[in-house]
Amino acid sequence: MSVKVFKFGGASVRDKLAIENVGRILQRFSDDKLIIVVSAIGKSTNALEEVVKSHYARDGKASALLEHIREQHANVIHALFTAPQKVLDDINDTLVEMEWILEEDPHADYDFTYDQIVSVGELLSSKILFHYLQSLGLSARWFDVRDVLLTDNTFRDARVNWEQTQKLASSKLAPLWQDCHHIVTQGFIGTTTENETTTLGREGSDYTAAILSFCLDAESMHIWKDVPGVLTADPRLFDEVVKLPRLSYKEAIEMTYYGAKVIHPKTIKPLQNKQIPLFVRPFLDPTSEGTIISDEKELTYPPVVVIEPDQALLHISTNDFSFVAEHHLSMIFALLAKYRLKVNMMRNTAISFTVSINFQPDRIKKFEAELGDEFKMVTDTDLEMITIRHYNDEILQDMKKEKLVLFEDRVQETVQLVVRNLPKMRRKETNTM
Ligand code: ASP
Ligand code: MG
Repeated sequence: MSVKVFKFGGASVRDKLAIENVGRILQRFSDDKLIIVVSAIGKSTNALEEVVKSHYARDGKASALLEHIREQHANVIHALFTAPQKVLDDINDTLVEMEWILEEDPHADYDFTYDQIVSVGELLSSKILFHYLQSLGLSARWFDVRDVLLTDNTFRDARVNWEQTQKLASSKLAPLWQDCHHIVTQGFIGTTTENETTTLGREGSDYTAAILSFCLDAESMHIWKDVPGVLTADPRLFDEVVKLPRLSYKEAIEMTYYGAKVIHPKTIKPLQNKQIPLFVRPFLDPTSEGTIISDEKELTYPPVVVIEPDQALLHISTNDFSFVAEHHLSMIFALLAKYRLKVNMMRNTAISFTVSINFQPDRIKKFEAELGDEFKMVTDTDLEMITIRHYNDEILQDMKKEKLVLFEDRVQETVQLVVRNLPKMRRKETNTM
């Protein structure tokens, strides 16, 4: 059995036209055995996050926010189907459980409730896409990924139970292709052994597709996106970007590690372990192969720029200006891990230790409080981290223009800068008369 795994993100199912486009893509593959992993429609995950916040704030708005999400989905359904009732019923059944949750007092565990509510985005989008494929006459089936994707109970950041997931995928998913071609399922969500829904972390649908690719020994995985492939920089930030036709797994891992948003960082490893090629391809041009990520070794690359906004530098020193020693470092790292502050860059000098992390004010505050009196901490914010792979002097100079460089680090192929944008200096108009 050879299966291809397709992943469609929120943008590719955002409205009627987008879903019709997905339908056209899938018609090109009508004879292939596919598993189609879909994200929540457009920005509905953000909207669902607001429902959770409002439920906990007890501001009385949660139900209205959920109602608004229902309406948005209903609008898509009315636009897409000539006989929408069956689909609307399906959507309403799915939302009933969310209404029940909102009727109760907020559960003590925020992250648990978050997963129970936010996961509905993927359930809704996958149902709509499934009904749509059926209406096109494709041989499709809806599948609840929680029947196979088992995780631990780290809500909002669940870890996959690979062994169980692999077993379940081969026993429950594989037989389904005997009587259908396209299995539509959800990205981002999983379940504990106690049948509680979990999520894999924001933007986790790519990772779901990789997990299923691994567990099913897929022949290839395809992420359909609104860009031509993997580019040398984010086209929203830079003008002169080009597509990289081929990438090695290693290069892709490096790029996503440094913050490239094109693929979720956890996606590559499972594919690499089984040598499954990953195609990152444009949903607006299904004839293009986009970028192929595989086990290439002999590739050379142009400079690739990755920007990670919202950085903070934490400068930590001992209060008595004694050396920052190993036992201090191990305590600092334990606290960074405890508050899930991901270290992007670090440096230690005799009397200080500096890290660059994503700016998360609440967690940073708690971290600082727990560091205690032995340490002094100074925080710089409003920074940006620039990583340049395969750099040359020209691009390096270019990236530093109008920036104050607070931190610079070079290792082999990679330069990293933490910078502050300098306000443009303009000369005052003086009256020389
Ligand atoms: N819908 C989820 C999110 O927006 C997962 C994903 O899109 O990959 O984070
Ligand atoms: Mg998304």
